[in-house]
Amino acid sequence: MTNSPLVEIKDLKKYFPAGKNQFVRAVDGVSFAIQRGETLGLVGESGCGKTTVGRCLLRLIEPTSGEIRFDGKDLLALGRSEMRAMRRRMQIVFQDPYSSLNPRMKVGDIVGEPLIIHSIGNSKSERQERVNELLRVVGLDPDYAHRYPHQFSGGQRQRIGIARALALNPDFIVADEPVSALDVSVQAQVVNLLQDLQEQFGLTYLFISHGLAVVKHISTRVGVMYLGKLVELAPAEEIYRRPLHPYTQALLAAIPNPDPEARDSEHKPRRLGGDVPTPLNPPSGCRFHTRCPHVMERCKTEEPQFVQIETGHFSACFLNEVSVKSRSA
Ligand code: SF4
Repeated sequence: MTNSPLVEIKDLKKYFPAGKNQFVRAVDGVSFAIQRGETLGLVGESGCGKTTVGRCLLRLIEPTSGEIRFDGKDLLALGRSEMRAMRRRMQIVFQDPYSSLNPRMKVGDIVGEPLIIHSIGNSKSERQERVNELLRVVGLDPDYAHRYPHQFSGGQRQRIGIARALALNPDFIVADEPVSALDVSVQAQVVNLLQDLQEQFGLTYLFISHGLAVVKHISTRVGVMYLGKLVELAPAEEIYRRPLHPYTQALLAAIPNPDPEARDSEHKPRRLGGDVPTPLNPPSGCRFHTRCPHVMERCKTEEPQFVQIETGHFSACFLNEVSVKSRSA
């Protein structure tokens, strides 16, 4: 076991063409690392680029530029067969358990398909035994292997998606809004399952979510994205206790029944108004300036740098620079 991060991305960009000389800048210079065994929660409103980051990381889509390292290897330099071998170690659980499972396949075949694709197991019965084991691991009865996806509830379908992701014994899983499509009563069960599996198999997660509430208990650290940029990154406990960026503060304010003792008065959150601007033509300066309750003149023209404010706590806001100076004065 090495101390280097399992996943590292540097200055990742993904621009999607959108007509003549126009690009949707879905991800625009994002850098972070994920340590082995940790869960990095990646949060932001719809369209902020978080899902695109997850897909670039697995090379399900090709980034426009930047660097992606997995276990020290430069993923973007790998050829097709090397990448195929690497894919066994990195899997994804999709948001929608209704559309991500083939309705015409039996559950046992869905879970066992990766074993066939990667030629794992010497016989059909060996693969069947592995499928049964995977179903048990996610809390499903192996007798269900002969049923079809429509015969399961939303939570059970997501368990099937998780079993499939585990089939190849991966090290890393991108969980892309894995509970957003589920009833609130079922969400905690699936998050708990993911936590148990992490402990059992030493998994590393990138857990993507549109809200901060969902990732609170599972994340080791949390990154917050806005319009293609990372605006804050900190240990989970710290970001909920003392969010520094006005956008993070607004996301926290959107959580119903927030614990009043969880924040100090200096960083009291305010609710967010307005819509997210289009990533086709993002605002100049700080991209959050059109919605920020603390906007200043310089925010409209200058872009704040993503800097470390305290150990392990990064933020991109001029207000935080001021607080650094006043603390060190
Ligand atoms: Fe708000 Fe300015 Fe900070 Fe951006 S840099 S978050 S606009 S105060």
